[in-house]
Amino acid sequence: MADTWLSRWPTAVRDYSARCDAIEAEAGQETLRRYRIFSVVVVVLNIAYASVFWLDNAKADAAEAPWVYAIAWIHSVTAAAMLLTGVLIHRYCQRQNPSRIEGIALEMTFCAVALFFGISLSLADQLHIPNTTNFSTVCLLLGMASLVRPRRALALFASAYIAFHFLAPMTQLDSATLSVVRSHALGGSIVSIVASVVVWDQFMKSVLLRRELAQANLTLSEHQEELAYLATRDSLTGLYLRREFMRLANMELARAKRAGGATSMVMVDIDHFKRINDGYGHPAGDAVLRQVATILGEHLRSTDILARMGGEEFVTLLPLTDAQGAIEVAEKLRRGLSVRPLQAGEQPLPVTASFGVSTSNAAQNLDYEHLYDAADHALYRAKQGGRNRVEHDQDDPARGSPR
Ligand code: GH3
Ligand code: MG
Ligand code: MG
Repeated sequence: MADTWLSRWPTAVRDYSARCDAIEAEAGQETLRRYRIFSVVVVVLNIAYASVFWLDNAKADAAEAPWVYAIAWIHSVTAAAMLLTGVLIHRYCQRQNPSRIEGIALEMTFCAVALFFGISLSLADQLHIPNTTNFSTVCLLLGMASLVRPRRALALFASAYIAFHFLAPMTQLDSATLSVVRSHALGGSIVSIVASVVVWDQFMKSVLLRRELAQANLTLSEHQEELAYLATRDSLTGLYLRREFMRLANMELARAKRAGGATSMVMVDIDHFKRINDGYGHPAGDAVLRQVATILGEHLRSTDILARMGGEEFVTLLPLTDAQGAIEVAEKLRRGLSVRPLQAGEQPLPVTASFGVSTSNAAQNLDYEHLYDAADHALYRAKQGGRNRVEHDQDDPARGSPR
Protein backbone atom coordinates (compact mmCIF):
# COMPACT_ATOMS: atom_id res chain seq x y z
CA MET A 1 0.00 0.00 0.00
CA ALA A 2 1.28 3.45 -0.90
CA ASP A 3 2.59 5.51 1.99
CA THR A 4 -0.32 7.96 2.18
CA TRP A 5 -1.76 9.98 5.03
CA LEU A 6 -4.56 7.39 5.14
CA SER A 7 -2.12 4.53 5.77
CA ARG A 8 -0.13 6.55 8.31
CA TRP A 9 -2.96 7.83 10.48
CA PRO A 10 -3.37 4.72 12.68
CA THR A 11 0.30 5.05 13.69
CA ALA A 12 -0.10 8.81 14.17
CA VAL A 13 -3.14 8.25 16.41
CA ARG A 14 -1.25 5.58 18.41
CA ASP A 15 1.75 7.95 18.84
CA TYR A 16 -0.51 10.80 19.93
CA SER A 17 -2.32 8.53 22.34
CA ALA A 18 0.99 7.33 23.82
CA ARG A 19 2.06 10.95 24.37
CA CYS A 20 -1.29 11.66 26.04
CA ASP A 21 -0.75 8.64 28.32
CA ALA A 22 2.71 9.95 29.28
CA ILE A 23 1.38 13.24 30.64
CA GLU A 24 -2.11 12.27 31.77
CA ALA A 25 -1.29 11.89 35.47
CA GLU A 26 0.49 15.26 35.59
CA ALA A 27 -2.37 16.92 33.67
CA GLY A 28 -4.90 15.39 36.08
CA GLN A 29 -3.09 16.75 39.13
CA GLU A 30 -2.85 20.21 37.58
CA THR A 31 -6.55 20.12 36.63
CA LEU A 32 -7.59 19.22 40.16
CA ARG A 33 -5.36 21.95 41.61
CA ARG A 34 -7.20 24.43 39.33
CA TYR A 35 -10.62 22.97 40.21
CA ARG A 36 -9.82 23.39 43.90
CA ILE A 37 -9.43 27.16 43.37
CA PHE A 38 -12.43 27.41 41.00
CA SER A 39 -14.68 25.58 43.44
CA VAL A 40 -14.04 28.31 46.06
CA VAL A 41 -14.78 31.07 43.53
CA VAL A 42 -17.90 29.30 42.24
CA VAL A 43 -19.26 28.71 45.76
CA VAL A 44 -18.76 32.37 46.74
CA LEU A 45 -20.35 33.69 43.52
CA ASN A 46 -23.25 31.22 43.71
CA ILE A 47 -24.04 32.15 47.31
CA ALA A 48 -24.01 35.84 46.33
CA TYR A 49 -26.28 35.25 43.32
CA ALA A 50 -28.58 32.90 45.23
CA SER A 51 -28.99 35.50 47.99
CA VAL A 52 -29.91 38.21 45.47
CA PHE A 53 -32.42 35.96 43.70
CA TRP A 54 -34.01 34.69 46.91
CA LEU A 55 -34.49 38.32 47.97
CA ASP A 56 -35.84 39.19 44.50
CA ASN A 57 -38.20 36.25 44.69
CA ALA A 58 -40.29 38.11 47.28
CA LYS A 59 -40.71 41.11 44.97
CA ALA A 60 -41.12 39.21 41.66
CA ASP A 61 -44.48 39.41 39.88
CA ALA A 62 -46.40 36.25 39.00
CA ALA A 63 -44.99 36.06 35.45
CA GLU A 64 -41.36 36.34 36.59
CA ALA A 65 -41.64 34.33 39.79
CA PRO A 66 -40.99 30.80 38.32
CA TRP A 67 -37.85 32.04 36.57
CA VAL A 68 -36.48 33.87 39.63
CA TYR A 69 -37.33 30.89 41.84
CA ALA A 70 -35.60 28.47 39.46
CA ILE A 71 -32.47 30.61 39.23
CA ALA A 72 -32.29 30.91 43.02
CA TRP A 73 -32.63 27.13 43.41
CA ILE A 74 -30.02 26.35 40.72
CA HIS A 75 -27.47 28.67 42.38
CA SER A 76 -28.16 27.20 45.81
CA VAL A 77 -27.90 23.57 44.67
CA THR A 78 -24.73 24.34 42.66
CA ALA A 79 -23.16 26.11 45.67
CA ALA A 80 -23.84 23.10 47.91
CA ALA A 81 -22.64 20.53 45.34
CA MET A 82 -19.53 22.58 44.50
CA LEU A 83 -18.68 22.99 48.19
CA LEU A 84 -18.79 19.23 48.67
CA THR A 85 -16.76 18.60 45.49
CA GLY A 86 -14.24 21.28 46.49
CA VAL A 87 -13.72 19.66 49.91
CA LEU A 88 -13.20 16.22 48.32
CA ILE A 89 -10.75 17.66 45.77
CA HIS A 90 -8.86 19.50 48.53
CA ARG A 91 -8.49 16.27 50.53
CA TYR A 92 -7.40 14.40 47.41
CA CYS A 93 -4.75 17.03 46.55
CA GLN A 94 -3.23 16.70 50.01
CA ARG A 95 -2.65 12.96 49.72
CA GLN A 96 0.84 11.59 49.02
CA ASN A 97 0.08 9.01 46.35
CA PRO A 98 -3.53 9.55 45.27
CA SER A 99 -5.10 7.02 42.91
CA ARG A 100 -5.60 8.15 39.33
CA ILE A 101 -9.04 6.55 39.05
CA GLU A 102 -10.23 8.57 42.03
CA GLY A 103 -8.73 11.67 40.43
CA ILE A 104 -10.66 11.07 37.20
CA ALA A 105 -13.85 10.51 39.20
CA LEU A 106 -13.36 13.86 40.98
CA GLU A 107 -12.61 15.64 37.69
CA MET A 108 -15.80 14.23 36.21
CA THR A 109 -17.79 15.17 39.33
CA PHE A 110 -16.59 18.77 39.09
CA CYS A 111 -17.48 18.85 35.36
CA ALA A 112 -20.89 17.32 36.05
CA VAL A 113 -21.68 19.98 38.68
CA ALA A 114 -20.49 22.78 36.38
CA LEU A 115 -22.48 21.38 33.42
CA PHE A 116 -25.57 20.89 35.59
CA PHE A 117 -25.24 24.59 36.43
CA GLY A 118 -24.87 25.71 32.78
CA ILE A 119 -27.60 23.42 31.43
CA SER A 120 -30.17 24.20 34.11
CA LEU A 121 -29.55 27.96 33.93
CA SER A 122 -30.12 27.90 30.18
CA LEU A 123 -33.22 25.73 30.64
CA ALA A 124 -34.55 28.22 33.19
CA ASP A 125 -33.70 31.09 30.86
CA GLN A 126 -36.07 29.63 28.27
CA LEU A 127 -38.93 30.65 30.60
CA HIS A 128 -37.93 34.22 30.05
CA ILE A 129 -35.72 34.55 26.98
CA PRO A 130 -34.49 32.08 24.27
CA ASN A 131 -30.86 32.20 25.24
CA THR A 132 -28.02 29.64 25.62
CA THR A 133 -25.27 31.99 26.80
CA ASN A 134 -25.03 30.33 30.21
CA PHE A 135 -24.70 26.84 28.70
CA SER A 136 -22.04 27.94 26.16
CA THR A 137 -20.10 30.03 28.70
CA VAL A 138 -19.88 27.20 31.22
CA CYS A 139 -18.81 24.72 28.48
CA LEU A 140 -16.18 27.11 27.14
CA LEU A 141 -14.77 27.98 30.57
CA LEU A 142 -14.62 24.30 31.42
CA GLY A 143 -12.90 23.52 28.10
CA MET A 144 -10.28 26.22 28.60
CA ALA A 145 -9.61 25.69 32.30
CA SER A 146 -9.39 21.88 32.26
CA LEU A 147 -6.62 19.62 31.03
CA VAL A 148 -8.72 16.75 29.76
CA ARG A 149 -7.52 14.38 27.03
CA PRO A 150 -9.37 14.91 23.72
CA ARG A 151 -11.48 11.74 23.75
CA ARG A 152 -12.75 12.55 27.25
CA ALA A 153 -13.45 16.18 26.25
CA LEU A 154 -15.43 14.87 23.27
CA ALA A 155 -17.49 12.57 25.50
CA LEU A 156 -18.01 15.31 28.10
CA PHE A 157 -19.24 18.09 25.81
CA ALA A 158 -21.20 15.72 23.56
CA SER A 159 -23.04 14.43 26.67
CA ALA A 160 -23.66 18.02 27.79
CA TYR A 161 -25.17 18.86 24.42
CA ILE A 162 -27.30 15.67 24.31
CA ALA A 163 -28.62 16.44 27.81
CA PHE A 164 -29.52 19.99 26.78
CA HIS A 165 -31.03 18.78 23.49
CA PHE A 166 -33.48 16.44 25.23
CA LEU A 167 -34.24 18.66 28.22
CA ALA A 168 -34.79 21.91 26.29
CA PRO A 169 -38.42 21.09 25.25
CA MET A 170 -39.33 21.13 28.97
CA THR A 171 -39.01 24.92 29.08
CA GLN A 172 -38.89 25.97 25.41
CA LEU A 173 -42.29 25.20 23.97
CA ASP A 174 -41.95 27.00 20.65
CA SER A 175 -40.57 24.49 18.11
CA ALA A 176 -38.85 27.04 15.83
CA THR A 177 -37.16 28.74 18.79
CA LEU A 178 -36.25 25.32 20.15
CA SER A 179 -34.30 24.52 16.93
CA VAL A 180 -32.43 27.82 17.13
CA VAL A 181 -31.61 27.32 20.80
CA ARG A 182 -30.41 23.77 20.15
CA SER A 183 -28.20 24.88 17.27
CA HIS A 184 -26.63 27.58 19.48
CA ALA A 185 -25.97 25.02 22.20
CA LEU A 186 -24.42 22.67 19.61
CA GLY A 187 -22.14 25.49 18.43
CA GLY A 188 -21.13 26.19 22.04
CA SER A 189 -20.29 22.51 22.62
CA ILE A 190 -18.19 22.26 19.44
CA VAL A 191 -16.22 25.42 20.26
CA SER A 192 -15.61 24.05 23.77
CA ILE A 193 -14.27 20.76 22.40
CA VAL A 194 -11.89 22.65 20.08
CA ALA A 195 -10.74 24.92 22.94
CA SER A 196 -10.19 21.91 25.20
CA VAL A 197 -8.12 20.06 22.56
CA VAL A 198 -5.97 23.15 21.89
CA VAL A 199 -5.35 23.70 25.62
CA TRP A 200 -4.53 20.00 26.10
CA ASP A 201 -2.16 19.98 23.12
CA GLN A 202 -0.27 23.05 24.34
CA PHE A 203 0.06 21.60 27.83
CA MET A 204 1.25 18.25 26.44
CA LYS A 205 3.90 19.92 24.28
CA SER A 206 5.20 22.05 27.14
CA VAL A 207 5.37 19.10 29.58
CA LEU A 208 7.14 16.85 27.08
CA LEU A 209 9.56 19.64 26.20
CA ARG A 210 10.27 20.29 29.88
CA ARG A 211 10.95 16.59 30.43
CA GLU A 212 13.25 16.44 27.40
CA LEU A 213 15.11 19.48 28.70
CA ALA A 214 15.48 17.97 32.17
CA GLN A 215 16.82 14.75 30.62
CA ALA A 216 19.24 16.70 28.41
CA ASN A 217 20.46 18.67 31.44
CA LEU A 218 21.01 15.45 33.36
CA THR A 219 23.01 13.92 30.49
CA LEU A 220 24.99 17.14 30.17
CA SER A 221 25.93 17.25 33.83
CA GLU A 222 26.88 13.55 33.68
CA HIS A 223 29.13 14.30 30.70
CA GLN A 224 30.59 17.29 32.52
CA GLU A 225 31.39 15.12 35.53
CA GLU A 226 32.95 12.52 33.24
CA LEU A 227 35.01 15.19 31.46
CA ALA A 228 36.14 16.67 34.77
CA TYR A 229 37.18 13.17 35.88
CA LEU A 230 39.04 12.46 32.63
CA ALA A 231 40.78 15.84 32.78
CA THR A 232 42.22 15.11 36.21
CA ARG A 233 42.87 11.35 36.05
CA ASP A 234 45.41 9.16 34.34
CA SER A 235 43.58 6.74 32.06
CA LEU A 236 45.91 3.80 32.75
CA THR A 237 46.01 3.83 36.55
CA GLY A 238 43.08 6.08 37.53
CA LEU A 239 45.46 8.17 39.66
CA TYR A 240 45.60 11.98 39.56
CA LEU A 241 47.55 13.56 36.73
CA ARG A 242 50.51 15.85 37.37
CA ARG A 243 48.51 19.09 36.97
CA GLU A 244 45.76 18.01 39.38
CA PHE A 245 48.41 16.80 41.84
CA MET A 246 50.06 20.24 41.69
CA ARG A 247 46.74 21.96 42.34
CA LEU A 248 45.85 19.72 45.29
CA ALA A 249 49.38 19.85 46.71
CA ASN A 250 49.46 23.65 46.53
CA MET A 251 46.13 23.78 48.37
CA GLU A 252 47.43 21.43 51.06
CA LEU A 253 50.66 23.42 51.46
CA ALA A 254 48.67 26.65 51.78
CA ARG A 255 46.52 25.01 54.44
CA ALA A 256 49.63 23.75 56.28
CA LYS A 257 51.12 27.25 56.15
CA ARG A 258 48.06 28.69 57.90
CA ALA A 259 47.38 25.86 60.33
CA GLY A 260 50.98 24.74 60.92
CA GLY A 261 52.35 21.18 60.81
CA ALA A 262 54.80 19.37 58.54
CA THR A 263 54.02 18.15 55.02
CA SER A 264 56.06 15.53 53.16
CA MET A 265 56.40 14.42 49.59
CA VAL A 266 57.51 10.99 48.36
CA MET A 267 58.60 10.40 44.78
CA VAL A 268 58.53 6.83 43.52
CA ASP A 269 60.35 5.53 40.44
CA ILE A 270 60.15 1.87 39.40
CA ASP A 271 63.58 0.29 39.07
CA HIS A 272 64.75 -0.85 35.65
CA PHE A 273 61.30 -0.56 34.23
CA LYS A 274 62.66 -0.38 30.73
CA ARG A 275 63.83 -4.00 31.15
CA ILE A 276 60.22 -5.08 31.92
CA ASN A 277 59.00 -3.42 28.74
CA ASP A 278 61.87 -4.84 26.74
CA GLY A 279 61.59 -8.32 28.23
CA TYR A 280 57.82 -8.80 28.46
CA GLY A 281 56.36 -6.18 26.13
CA HIS A 282 54.55 -2.90 26.71
CA PRO A 283 51.17 -4.45 27.64
CA ALA A 284 52.91 -6.33 30.49
CA GLY A 285 54.60 -3.06 31.46
CA ASP A 286 51.20 -1.37 31.56
CA ALA A 287 49.84 -4.16 33.78
CA VAL A 288 52.76 -3.64 36.15
CA LEU A 289 52.09 0.13 36.29
CA ARG A 290 48.46 -0.54 37.21
CA GLN A 291 49.44 -3.01 39.94
CA VAL A 292 52.05 -0.63 41.37
CA ALA A 293 49.42 2.13 41.50
CA THR A 294 47.04 -0.20 43.37
CA ILE A 295 49.68 -1.31 45.89
CA LEU A 296 50.76 2.29 46.58
CA GLY A 297 47.14 3.30 47.11
CA GLU A 298 46.52 0.39 49.48
CA HIS A 299 49.36 1.50 51.76
CA LEU A 300 48.37 5.18 51.99
CA ARG A 301 45.80 7.05 54.05
CA SER A 302 42.72 8.49 52.41
CA THR A 303 44.01 12.01 53.08
CA ASP A 304 47.28 11.35 51.19
CA ILE A 305 47.34 12.55 47.59
CA LEU A 306 48.69 10.00 45.09
CA ALA A 307 49.43 10.79 41.44
CA ARG A 308 51.21 9.41 38.41
CA MET A 309 53.71 12.01 37.31
CA GLY A 310 54.33 10.31 33.97
CA GLY A 311 56.06 7.13 32.70
CA GLU A 312 56.94 4.89 35.64
CA GLU A 313 57.08 7.70 38.18
CA PHE A 314 54.57 8.29 40.97
CA VAL A 315 54.37 10.89 43.70
CA THR A 316 52.45 11.23 46.91
CA LEU A 317 51.91 14.17 49.23
CA LEU A 318 51.53 13.29 52.89
CA PRO A 319 49.72 15.98 54.89
CA LEU A 320 50.62 16.41 58.59
CA THR A 321 53.60 14.06 58.25
CA ASP A 322 57.11 14.93 59.42
CA ALA A 323 60.39 13.58 57.98
CA GLN A 324 60.48 10.53 60.28
CA GLY A 325 56.86 9.65 59.51
CA ALA A 326 57.40 10.11 55.77
CA ILE A 327 60.44 7.81 55.78
CA GLU A 328 58.36 5.17 57.54
CA VAL A 329 55.59 5.52 54.96
CA ALA A 330 58.09 5.29 52.08
CA GLU A 331 59.66 2.19 53.68
CA LYS A 332 56.22 0.65 53.99
CA LEU A 333 55.55 1.34 50.32
CA ARG A 334 58.95 -0.03 49.29
CA ARG A 335 58.41 -3.25 51.26
CA GLY A 336 54.84 -3.51 49.98
CA LEU A 337 56.15 -3.52 46.43
CA SER A 338 59.20 -5.71 46.88
CA VAL A 339 57.54 -8.50 48.90
CA ARG A 340 54.70 -9.03 46.46
CA PRO A 341 55.77 -10.31 43.02
CA LEU A 342 53.65 -8.65 40.36
CA GLN A 343 52.07 -10.42 37.43
CA ALA A 344 53.24 -9.83 33.89
CA GLY A 345 50.87 -12.08 31.97
CA GLU A 346 51.18 -15.55 33.54
CA GLN A 347 54.60 -14.93 35.04
CA PRO A 348 55.36 -13.57 38.50
CA LEU A 349 57.69 -10.63 38.22
CA PRO A 350 59.72 -9.12 41.04
CA VAL A 351 59.38 -5.36 40.88
CA THR A 352 61.12 -2.85 43.10
CA ALA A 353 61.14 0.93 43.23
CA SER A 354 63.29 3.70 44.60
CA PHE A 355 61.92 6.45 46.85
CA GLY A 356 62.95 10.08 47.34
CA VAL A 357 61.42 11.90 50.33
CA SER A 358 61.31 15.60 51.23
CA THR A 359 59.64 17.42 54.09
CA SER A 360 58.50 20.97 54.76
CA ASN A 361 58.24 21.61 58.48
CA ALA A 362 56.31 24.43 60.12
CA ALA A 363 59.39 26.68 60.32
CA GLN A 364 60.36 26.23 56.66
CA ASN A 365 57.04 26.38 54.84
CA LEU A 366 58.59 25.22 51.56
CA ASP A 367 56.59 25.86 48.43
CA TYR A 368 55.63 23.13 45.96
CA GLU A 369 58.61 23.62 43.63
CA HIS A 370 61.14 23.38 46.45
CA LEU A 371 59.51 20.31 47.96
CA TYR A 372 59.32 18.64 44.56
CA ASP A 373 62.91 19.49 43.69
CA ALA A 374 64.13 18.15 47.04
CA ALA A 375 62.20 14.87 46.65
CA ASP A 376 63.51 14.49 43.09
CA HIS A 377 67.05 14.98 44.33
CA ALA A 378 66.58 12.42 47.08
CA LEU A 379 65.21 9.98 44.49
CA TYR A 380 68.32 10.51 42.39
CA ARG A 381 70.43 9.57 45.39
CA ALA A 382 68.30 6.45 46.00
CA LYS A 383 69.02 5.36 42.41
CA GLN A 384 72.68 6.16 42.82
CA GLY A 385 72.77 4.26 46.10
CA GLY A 386 71.73 0.99 44.47
CA ARG A 387 67.90 1.28 43.94
CA ASN A 388 65.12 -0.41 45.96
CA ARG A 389 65.77 2.05 48.78
CA VAL A 390 64.47 5.18 50.47
CA GLU A 391 66.43 8.42 50.76
CA HIS A 392 65.38 11.62 52.50
CA ASP A 393 66.57 14.96 51.27
CA GLN A 394 67.59 16.06 54.76
CA ASP A 395 70.09 13.16 55.01
CA ASP A 396 71.97 14.45 51.98
CA PRO A 397 75.53 15.30 53.08
CA ALA A 398 75.73 17.82 50.21
CA ARG A 399 72.44 19.48 51.30
CA GLY A 400 72.65 23.23 51.21
CA SER A 401 75.37 23.21 48.52
CA PRO A 402 74.34 24.02 44.95
CA ARG A 403 72.98 21.00 43.09
P1 GH3 B 1 65.66 3.33 36.47
O1 GH3 B 1 65.74 2.21 37.42
O2 GH3 B 1 66.94 4.12 36.39
O3 GH3 B 1 64.48 4.21 36.77
O4 GH3 B 1 65.47 2.71 35.06
P2 GH3 B 1 64.12 2.65 34.21
O5 GH3 B 1 64.30 1.66 33.15
O6 GH3 B 1 63.00 2.41 35.12
O7 GH3 B 1 64.03 4.12 33.69
P3 GH3 B 1 63.96 4.73 32.25
O8 GH3 B 1 63.66 6.19 32.42
O9 GH3 B 1 65.24 4.40 31.52
O10 GH3 B 1 62.83 4.00 31.53
C1 GH3 B 1 61.46 4.24 31.81
C2 GH3 B 1 60.65 3.47 30.82
O11 GH3 B 1 59.26 3.56 31.11
C3 GH3 B 1 60.81 3.95 29.40
C4 GH3 B 1 59.43 4.05 28.85
O12 GH3 B 1 59.30 3.36 27.62
C5 GH3 B 1 58.59 3.35 29.88
N1 GH3 B 1 57.26 3.89 29.97
C6 GH3 B 1 56.88 5.18 30.17
N2 GH3 B 1 55.55 5.27 30.16
C7 GH3 B 1 55.05 4.01 29.98
C8 GH3 B 1 53.74 3.46 29.90
O13 GH3 B 1 52.71 4.15 30.02
N3 GH3 B 1 53.63 2.14 29.68
C9 GH3 B 1 54.70 1.34 29.58
N4 GH3 B 1 54.55 0.03 29.39
N5 GH3 B 1 55.95 1.82 29.64
C10 GH3 B 1 56.13 3.15 29.84
MG1 MG C 1 61.97 7.37 35.55
MG1 MG D 1 62.60 3.89 36.55
